[in-house]
Amino acid sequence: MTAQELVQLAFERLAQRSGFETRHDQVQLSLLLSDLIEQGSTGLFEAPTGLGKSLATLIPAIANAIANDKRTVIATYTNVLADQYWRKDLPLALSLFDAHVPTAFLIGRQRYVCLMAMDEHMPGEVESFQLGAEEGVENEFRRLIRKPDREINKLWPQIAVPPVCPARACPAYDDCFYYQARKKLEKAKVIITNHSVVIQDAASSDPEAEREGMLFKYDFLVLDEAHDFPSAALNGLEFELSGSRLGSLTGIANRLENLVVPLAEVTGERREWHEKGEELRHQVQVAQKELVALGMQLEHGGIVAVTPEEIDDHPAVQRAHAKQYLTQVESIAERVRNACDRLSTDAVLRVERYRQEGKHPEAKTIADSSRNYISYVRDFAAGAHELSRPSGAAVSYIGNPRSEVILRRDYIDLREPLTGLIWDRVPYACLSATLQVDNEFDYFKQLTGTKPMFEEVLPSPFDHSLQCAVYMPKRDAIPDPTLSRGAGEQTYYRAIARELSQIIEACQGRTLALFHSRKEMEGVYAFMEVSEDLPILVQGRTGVAMVGEQFKKNIFASLFALRSFWTGFDAPGETCSCVALVRIPFEVPVEPSMIARMAYLAQQGMDPFQSHTLPNAKIIMRQGAGRLIRSENDKGILALLDPRIQTKRYGEQFIANLPPGMRQFNDILDAVGWIGLE
Ligand code: SF4
Repeated sequence: MTAQELVQLAFERLAQRSGFETRHDQVQLSLLLSDLIEQGSTGLFEAPTGLGKSLATLIPAIANAIANDKRTVIATYTNVLADQYWRKDLPLALSLFDAHVPTAFLIGRQRYVCLMAMDEHMPGEVESFQLGAEEGVENEFRRLIRKPDREINKLWPQIAVPPVCPARACPAYDDCFYYQARKKLEKAKVIITNHSVVIQDAASSDPEAEREGMLFKYDFLVLDEAHDFPSAALNGLEFELSGSRLGSLTGIANRLENLVVPLAEVTGERREWHEKGEELRHQVQVAQKELVALGMQLEHGGIVAVTPEEIDDHPAVQRAHAKQYLTQVESIAERVRNACDRLSTDAVLRVERYRQEGKHPEAKTIADSSRNYISYVRDFAAGAHELSRPSGAAVSYIGNPRSEVILRRDYIDLREPLTGLIWDRVPYACLSATLQVDNEFDYFKQLTGTKPMFEEVLPSPFDHSLQCAVYMPKRDAIPDPTLSRGAGEQTYYRAIARELSQIIEACQGRTLALFHSRKEMEGVYAFMEVSEDLPILVQGRTGVAMVGEQFKKNIFASLFALRSFWTGFDAPGETCSCVALVRIPFEVPVEPSMIARMAYLAQQGMDPFQSHTLPNAKIIMRQGAGRLIRSENDKGILALLDPRIQTKRYGEQFIANLPPGMRQFNDILDAVGWIGLE
């Protein structure tokens, strides 16, 4: 059977299962993806909530594994969605096919339990955890280890898999959850992972040198939640140097030295290893002192180097300069780089020799394991070099010191790195419910450099014109937030609180209020006046996951939340009957990397507000609004409280980016009555 026939058959079988119906657009998306996988083509898809995107993605991946022997990687931004793919959707999708298809799941290594570390810190609990856990990941640990959240938060960094470990040379290697998961990858035809792993894999592999990454060579990449891929890429490709990271570097150099002891003893080279290690430790210590000295002089962070150089003259970049510290940053970076280079170059040669000579029975295993440590040190050298001499379009800066000085290098244009690492290497499909701005994919393409061969927008299965009403307060009810600084701030908070209090009373709780800043959220909360039986939960007073669960469980509760709830939060049913978007989430360029990014756009002849700030805010508003209608039975009110939506020229554009046909009200009781909230 062809892949297309297998896809059709899978959906026919799905339709026969009780509780499932196949949607025309879901099948359509699946067939389109199947085509792309089969032909090695590329596409962008806007696939709305409720379409059944996960199954529409998994079915063609499995079909093409069977019919065409293709390996597909499916990556999400959040581990929550990756977990849902793996535990819920993949078993269902696999059950629709007769053939067996090997699959694998991998998220970032620091999300797995390290058995050696667990044995050290919680010796009595390893066995029962091994018995109860399937993947050995953090959420299983939280579920299986019955301890209060606060205690687990403290424990987790101690028992999570470290950035580098002895791997094959570890006595627990054969049982290690993380390395078991990696082992499965090699044979797997469908792999569920996250964006960060995709970036890390791409950065560590080199197809020209035939060097494979941890995901091994694959034929097709699906990026789900693709609107968040730029942010995963920025995080994955940044480099950071701080006192604590230098501490980790020393720890890794020490562990390398310990690891090779058996081989160094056989060859009589213990002293040489120790001397090399000592040299690195000494240089790192000097660099740490230099960092502290820099911190004592520093009044504020700022940009020390930026490329292309023309951006340097931009007034905003000039204002953010901290170039007077460039010489010190160069000295620290070069000191660390040289020390790392010397150690890694020497270590590579010695270890390779040990492997070839084979004088010790464990020579190969130890040599393989030491490679991880050496790569870490070598990558650190490359990163340190970039701090004083960034390449591509990038910025190096000193972060605003709180507890310690942080030197960072960030990309300010992702197009070139992503083209080299992803788009030119492997055919792909980017999927999201919010990939378009103003009915175009241009913003995503401009941000990431993708040049897809195919673009498609699937219609929403929901009828927003019937399921949703828009509420906007009367024009003068809330002052313009940008004109409400200083003394006016309290007036603004009071006005928002008055509106939200009315909304919560009218909706009988059930309101998710999304804020742009903690200060604003707390400021508004202080003025809230609602009945005692309509509790308001506030993000930050309890953990993100817990506060979300409390909101879902208590039908009369409302939730004040920040950015992590604008996207990915799923509360179907009447528990979330109103979503209030308090303020348009315009990014304010205060961080050096953001300032440099804006200057870069201006240098390219673009208006930074029109080309970045505005479209970015539109996407976030679309995501926030998307929290409201999560199923065909949902109905509710979208409250847009920012008065600029009614007073500024761009206001209409925000409305135009929301689902069409929603009726607008400026009296909350009218909106509640019309939509029929009970
Ligand atoms: S192989 Fe590494 S991660 Fe796994 S148990 Fe051993 S030290 Fe921990």
